[in-house]
Amino acid sequence: MTTATDPSIAPGSSAVKTKRVLLLLGPPGCGKGTQGERLAKRLGIPTISTGEMIRAEIKAGSELGKIAAGVTITGGLLSDDLVNQIVESRLSKDDCARGFLLDGYPRSIDQAKFLSGLLERLKMPQPTVIHIDVPNDLLVSRTCLRRYCAVCGALYNLQSKPPKKDGTCDSCGAPLQQRADDCEETVRNRLLAYEKSTAPLIGHYSAGDYKRVEGTGTPDEVLEAIVAAI
Ligand code: ZN
Repeated sequence: MTTATDPSIAPGSSAVKTKRVLLLLGPPGCGKGTQGERLAKRLGIPTISTGEMIRAEIKAGSELGKIAAGVTITGGLLSDDLVNQIVESRLSKDDCARGFLLDGYPRSIDQAKFLSGLLERLKMPQPTVIHIDVPNDLLVSRTCLRRYCAVCGALYNLQSKPPKKDGTCDSCGAPLQQRADDCEETVRNRLLAYEKSTAPLIGHYSAGDYKRVEGTGTPDEVLEAIVAAI
């Protein structure tokens, strides 16, 4: 007779049965950052963002961090090779063993191919790609209808959360501000740049485990749509 603990009922072992590698794609303004944080929390996996990873390496003073700091100080762009090495270093850590959600990586087909090989080496599944799709016109109106109060910091949207009195802050009565006059042009240019850089990635991943999710609803609705899709 044995009194050894059954490993199958060890704490936490039943909560997450499968390893998950998730990758979020979506245009600027689609709510990707918020959805990523909430989704990762719901699934109990870390969010891995390229910017944070690079800052962490620099702060830790690692060899990769020293190289990255040198490049960013001179205003240069980090090479695919350096970003890939930083990603490999991060994804090899213990907290990633049951999966992770990638934010801002991969950005190119070369990075996507590197990631695929890295996941094989780490014995992780290939990524489930979630594409949050929002029509450009909606992104433009969401962004350009924003108003803010420079005095108290209150935020408004002329469509979804208008002030009670035109152009005036509800909380403190100060006049509301808009960030830029050329908002629509700026947003459309940003969307064009996004489409140009992301279209090849969508093409690359659409043959795999690829889910397109409607991103037009409220943040809660979009989160539920993502959870239902995966
Ligand atoms: Zn105010």
